[in-house]
Amino acid sequence: MSRILIIYTGGTIGMVRNAATGALESCNFENLVANVPELKLCGAEISAVTFDNPIDSSDMTPRHWGMMVKIISDNYDLYDGFVILHGTDTMAFTASALSFMLENLTKPVILTGSQLPIEAIRTDAKENLLTAIEIAAARDADGNAMVPEVCIFFHEELMRGNRATKISANNLAAFSSNNYPLLAHSGTEIDYHKEFIRRPSTGTFTPHYRMDPGIIIFSLFPGIRREAVEGVLRSKEIKGVIFRTYGSGNAPENGWLVELLSEAVLSGKTIVNISQCATGKVQMEKYRTGKQLLEAGIVSGRDSTVEAALTKLMFLLGENLSQEQIRCRMNESIAGEITI
Ligand code: ASP
Repeated sequence: MSRILIIYTGGTIGMVRNAATGALESCNFENLVANVPELKLCGAEISAVTFDNPIDSSDMTPRHWGMMVKIISDNYDLYDGFVILHGTDTMAFTASALSFMLENLTKPVILTGSQLPIEAIRTDAKENLLTAIEIAAARDADGNAMVPEVCIFFHEELMRGNRATKISANNLAAFSSNNYPLLAHSGTEIDYHKEFIRRPSTGTFTPHYRMDPGIIIFSLFPGIRREAVEGVLRSKEIKGVIFRTYGSGNAPENGWLVELLSEAVLSGKTIVNISQCATGKVQMEKYRTGKQLLEAGIVSGRDSTVEAALTKLMFLLGENLSQEQIRCRMNESIAGEITI
């Protein structure tokens, strides 16, 4: 029987409605378990660790990511897989961060949650939780973990964590993996798409804890003002920028923007170009409006999600690498987050 450790961080899945205010609030893990008697029948040996104060994932920070890494690392040899219960709002950020912080992972780390609380009649929580456990416990014919990577399982779909993004506040299918195929689909059976699942690395499992949050996401729009951009790019607190451009990585040719961007790069900041489009990739060489950014020293985020680019940059800055080393690593796939 596989041994699975559930890490309960909070989120709608375990929330209950406050009778006075009508708002959903975090509740303890015991309440959640009481609503899922099926946990005893799911064919895996289950233990749980819970955050002292379960949170709405809007309150998630790099400190909490470090707490999850520590729990996984401390229990790595004791369990065959890990299931993290997490709010949906920032689940894709956490999944992306963990994919970089858990180096040489050979065991499944499956994040899930729900759009409706476990107590709701039509809840999606049970199906998400029980299937996430089944996936974390699954092994191939050789006895190895079927999915040895950080994933999000939600509404019948298993996605690579650093390729997923939340796309709906209301639909039960809340996540999408726009630039990478699903790793599995659950219907009457769980159908694994083995050709898209990462093979476990042979290196030693190494947890990382340092994430540098000295970065910002800024998005272009027609009419953007020089003063606003200057404020961001000249800030001493900012070491990196996720720059959300148009289409295949294009920006206006107004002169001042590229000037400010190259000044920022020369001052040591890393600027990563991510498209505002949900699908496709950055190709700065395609148009003159993109090429000027390439010439200004901007790094291509390729087909990365914003969540993956942001957490990858936090991770690389946390490793105290030089600007050139960060540029090289941004251009490599660390955990399957970009297509090379
Ligand atoms: N606000 C909630 C959270 O992210 C939403 C959810 O869990 O679906 O914690």
